This record gives sequence, C-alpha cells and structure tokens, in this order.
Amino acid sequence: MTTQRKAVSLISGGLDSMLATKAMLDQGIHVEGINFFTGFCVEGHTHAIRKKDKAKPKRNNALWVAEQLGIKLHIVDVIDEYKDVVINPKHGYGSNLNPCLDCKCFMVRKAHEWIEEHDFDFIITGEVVGQRPMSQRRDTMPVIQRESGAEDRLLRPLCAHILPETLPEREGWVDREKLYGFNGRGRKPQIALAAEMGISDFAQPAGGCCFLTDAAYSSKLSDLWSSRGSREYEIDDIMLLKVGRHLRPRPHFKIIVGREEGENKFLEGYRKQFTHLYSTSHPGPMVLLDGEANADDLQLAARLAARFSQGKSADSVTIELHEKDADVVELDVVPLTTDEIPVEWYL
Ligand code: SF4
Repeated sequence: MTTQRKAVSLISGGLDSMLATKAMLDQGIHVEGINFFTGFCVEGHTHAIRKKDKAKPKRNNALWVAEQLGIKLHIVDVIDEYKDVVINPKHGYGSNLNPCLDCKCFMVRKAHEWIEEHDFDFIITGEVVGQRPMSQRRDTMPVIQRESGAEDRLLRPLCAHILPETLPEREGWVDREKLYGFNGRGRKPQIALAAEMGISDFAQPAGGCCFLTDAAYSSKLSDLWSSRGSREYEIDDIMLLKVGRHLRPRPHFKIIVGREEGENKFLEGYRKQFTHLYSTSHPGPMVLLDGEANADDLQLAARLAARFSQGKSADSVTIELHEKDADVVELDVVPLTTDEIPVEWYL
C-alpha cells in the first residue's frame, strides 16, 4: 500500500495559493493550509470597522479558500516573532516598509518547523517566478529555500517546470508533468487554470497581502518609530495605524481622528489607554491623543477636535477632555481654520 503524502500549503487567501493547493489535492496529496497572522494583514480588518464598507463581504479569504477546497486551515499567531522581520530585514524593504523577501523566508521557515512537528512531508506555496518584484524572482526562489531551511521540501506547483526538481517530484510523490511553468506578472494563465479547475470565485489579486506595501501606512509606521526614537511596536500601535486620520501637530504627540461612525466606535475601545476628547456641543469624531501633552498642547488638540466636528464653522465648540488619570474637563474652544493646519501635520 502506498503512503499518502502530506503537504502544508501557505494560504494567503488569494488565487495563486488556491490553485497550487488544488493542484496538489488533484494529485491525491493530503493538504492542510497554514496562514500566519502578523498584525499587518489586510484581511477583513478595516472593512470590518468602517460602516461605509458594511455592504462588502467580511469574509476572511484564507478561511474561505480552505472551506472551498475542503481542507483544514491552521491560523498561527506570529505577531511577536514577526517584529524582527519588520524591524531588521536582512534583505531590506520593497518600495515601502514591506520586507517581502525576509517575510517569505520567515513564513516558509515557520511552515518548515510546522511540518517537522506534525510529521508532514513537504510545503507548497502559490509563488510564481516573476510575479512580484521583490520576493518572487528567479534569483530569490533559492534564497527562500535556503534561508527557510526547507530546501527541496518546498514545492511551487505553479512554476515548478522552470525550477529545479524538488524532493516530492524526485520521489514521485507528485507527478512533475502535471505541474505548471507560469512565469511573469501576467495573470492570464492563473485565470485560465482557475476556469479549468472549476474555480469561479476568488479574491481579486491585489498589490500585496499586507499593509506594509501601502505607502500611507508605511509613512505612519515610520513616523511612529521616529517619534519614539526606537523601531519598536506593539500590536495596538499597528492596529491603530490602520484606522482614522493621523496628525502630528507637535513632535511629542499626535492625534488620531475617527473618520466615520465605525472608526469612532473602534477608537472608543482604546479610550482607557489614551487621553481622548470629543465635542459635546456638536456631533464630532472620537479623537485619541498619543504622546505627552502639556496644557497648550491639549488646547491645540481640542481646537483640532473642534475643527473635525460639525461645529467647525461655529464661534465656539465645547470639547470634553478625558486625560489619563485626571478629572474630565470641558473646554470651550475656537475651531482651527484650514489655514491653521499645515499639510505637514497630516501623516
Ligand atoms: S506583502 Fe506583506 S505579507 Fe506579503 S510578502 Fe510582502 S511583507 Fe510579507
């Protein structure tokens, strides 16, 4: 009796990992999915917060893909370990603060540890040579194999034909002939293969699978690091960077202003950890203050909060200020005008 071989598949929620997994299932391999939660994932988070996005489906695409394929999905929290990848990437960053090559090495290394612990035979990914400028190039493919420690237990079914044979192919666990030789940024071969496999619904391919590829997000993260004088972060920091308008009127503090009801509610969840303020005379956003603020700074923050309220044209707006470990204070302030808010304050 032949042994059924077992593979773990890195499931991002996109089409490529879905196709790679399906190709292995079709060859009789037992596949389970693995998805790493870094804190920077785009999946569902901001859509789930914003009220205006309520109509959009809130599905977690990784879970959804696993369900479509009928495989088990392991979601692994790597928030703490991943910090070193973001803070000290050996191979540097992409066009923003995305350390894609280090990230891929890290994820495959974690998957390799996982297969050793769970007695699985190999790892598959949906990588395609030439698909991404930083991590999916012909010269980076062996780097990921080597630095992850997975070596030839890493199989990329979608571009296997243009890469050296791997252990699962050599051993005949999978039939190399039935794998693919996709190459380049084009999506046509993947779309055609999806149709051939009967897959009609899938997440649209995006520029990247996490917020680190986003220029605005990266600039807020970089501001956070420079204002604190150290390149560190906690999970709440990186979650808050996804939400609201961020303005830094002074080097020692910034404010986060909810842009709509869903964001205001989300920010309210942080009110015990932050000095916060909001208008009581006019409808307005929840505003969190991050940093140290003296009396002048608090006055400025209150005038900003008034500016983003519906009382922005009023002569005076009443702001309720909740300083951490202090009594609640009411301030009557004149809203700042647009001219009084330099563009540089916006992060
Ligand atoms: S986009 Fe983000 S999650 Fe995807 S490889 Fe790059 S750093 Fe990693």
